[in-house]
Amino acid sequence: MTLATRIQEWVEPRAEEMAELLEKLVALDTENPPGRGLGQCAAYLYEVMDRFGFAPEIIELAPHDQLEEPRVVQGRVGDGPRLVYFHGHFDVVPAQSRAQFTAERRNGRMYGRGTADMKGGVVSMLYGAAAARDLGLLGDGSIVFHLVCDEETGSDASSGHLRRAGLIDTSALAMVTAEPTGGVIWHASRGALTMRVELRGTEAHVGQAHLGDNAFQHMVNVAAPLNALAKELLEKRTAFPMEDEAAKGSMMVVGGASGSGVNFNAVPGSAWFSIDRRFNPEEDVDEEIERLSTLIHSAAEASGTTASIEIVQRQPSAGVDRAHPVARLLAGSVAEIEGTAPPFELCPGILETRWYAQLGMPAFGYGAGRLDVSHGPGEYVDEAAMRRCAAVYAMFAAKAFA
Ligand SMILES: [Zn+2]
Repeated sequence: MTLATRIQEWVEPRAEEMAELLEKLVALDTENPPGRGLGQCAAYLYEVMDRFGFAPEIIELAPHDQLEEPRVVQGRVGDGPRLVYFHGHFDVVPAQSRAQFTAERRNGRMYGRGTADMKGGVVSMLYGAAAARDLGLLGDGSIVFHLVCDEETGSDASSGHLRRAGLIDTSALAMVTAEPTGGVIWHASRGALTMRVELRGTEAHVGQAHLGDNAFQHMVNVAAPLNALAKELLEKRTAFPMEDEAAKGSMMVVGGASGSGVNFNAVPGSAWFSIDRRFNPEEDVDEEIERLSTLIHSAAEASGTTASIEIVQRQPSAGVDRAHPVARLLAGSVAEIEGTAPPFELCPGILETRWYAQLGMPAFGYGAGRLDVSHGPGEYVDEAAMRRCAAVYAMFAAKAFA
């Protein structure tokens, strides 16, 4: 009997309990924002992991925005020194309707908020790890779980804490997160840089406009070269594979939000706008900050004013070569369970892998959910795909620790 068959014969009879666990997780409303019920969901996951014998621990996090009892649930399977991280998140994006918190099983699918992104992924990881342990596949390795609670709002409170507190072992072989990749492997992700740029002027009544200095006009002057740059950046295509060729450009949106907090009958004394820059794995966040700051300050100077720049979000990009030995192990694991080798793609958004990749660890997204239904009103996960995904995780652990 092949290992793939042995693993699947362990997973398949557990179809009903996996579905039940997912139903219970969906029913725990963890909408983020605002980050509701996180403590309650963490406590439930603790209980589930305890039943599995995964030595769970709850890490209480410092208060952050509106997150309600933010927690990380950690767990460990096996006691060998070689590590692989299974990383998941249990917050979900706000639902389109309350009915989404009652999971519904139809035509082999489980519908509900978080089924794809990514409570279904968490279920796959838990069962994948249990299969690997029960079948004696962990060798001299261990799987460490990090289940975090604020991925949908940037994960600074939880993954950021793990990183800052030195709770990520940099010697680990790999990290896998169960994001809804729809069966492809995300081996790279974009970085994100958000800036708020404020221009100063002098406020004056519109009847005395000659006494004022129009900050809005300065803003237009500063935005013009930024818009030109945004066009140029779109031509800078990443070498990482993406399904949509046109999406490969390096992205920048100027003026995602903007304003000049004054009445219409006054010359605006200040004006601000935002820049949201989503850069490719080939680009470096600090170089991007430098490039944009230089452009903004020189355009402001040419316009006769000064600009102040606030960095609202700074997330580096991440990327692993698909020829990396661990990337090949993961692709090989998928091929053995699914029958065909999966494509590698650049994740169009930012990804939790970045927290690990920054430490030099190969990090990947792979999950059964589909990205195109995640966050939407018809979110679902295919139950059979969720089980095959569990088998892939078990196979990956076996290969990593072989
Ligand atoms: Zn997600």
